[in-house]
Amino acid sequence: MTRGNSTAKAAGIVTVVVAALLGSAYALGRSLVPDQVPGLSTGATTSADGPHYADQPSGGEPSGTPGASTGPAETGQDGSAPEASTDNLFGAHATSGSPRLALTFDDGPDPRYTPQVLALLREYDVHATFCVVGENAQNHPDLIQAIVNEGHTLCNHSWHHDVGLGARSADAIRSDLLRTNAAIRAAVPNAPIVWYRQPGGAWTYPVVSVARQLGMTPLHWSVDPSDWELPGAGKITATVLTQAEPGSVVLLHDAGGNRQGTVDALRRILPDLTARFELEALPTDPT
Ligand SMILES: [Zn+2]
Repeated sequence: MTRGNSTAKAAGIVTVVVAALLGSAYALGRSLVPDQVPGLSTGATTSADGPHYADQPSGGEPSGTPGASTGPAETGQDGSAPEASTDNLFGAHATSGSPRLALTFDDGPDPRYTPQVLALLREYDVHATFCVVGENAQNHPDLIQAIVNEGHTLCNHSWHHDVGLGARSADAIRSDLLRTNAAIRAAVPNAPIVWYRQPGGAWTYPVVSVARQLGMTPLHWSVDPSDWELPGAGKITATVLTQAEPGSVVLLHDAGGNRQGTVDALRRILPDLTARFELEALPTDPT
């Protein structure tokens, strides 16, 4: 099991105890994602550590559900499916569609980590894609503005990181996605939002259909270092650099727990990736 290891590492590397506890709870909660009942995933709690979603419970035993704990390199919170499989993507894009590599950052914005990510991207003159959660966009409009002003692409990641959203009615899905876009556009009027990433990668036909009806292309990924499991910057770095290839869409997280490991990994990843690939923000006018 990786959970004990990740918890121990989290406790060892962070200096703020509460941050470590919440980060571990986040990772633990992620492991339970496949067991979540959609109707239970609407409650919100907030704390000094930022929002934690109902699909990220604060306790409980790890699930034995297949796909939940078979290893960070194969599955993850945004990886309910093995990354090599495209059977349950319902047509969601798993590559950039070009030789260029696309970095994507999920679950933010977060005032602790998003500015660090933006600064590193600026340093290496790299543009990326940010899959933002509606309530976080509402709470941090300045960060949404910074993301857009610095030339990055926005992606809708649902209002409340609802992993079960795809099981809801089309009307409920539409309402959630529109609410999220409205929060983004409250920060940046007329912001192009042409991508949607389903939390947990839990794609369904209805969620793909509604996203497309609203002018958003479903976006999955092809490289997943499971950074949300807090494997450490070294492991995140190694996974990304080993698996990256032309057209890769790399899944990283700038929010949802302690993401310093991801930030530290990014600092190591960018010199290598920029030497080997052309990096891009996903286009805001996909065809
Ligand atoms: Zn996510």
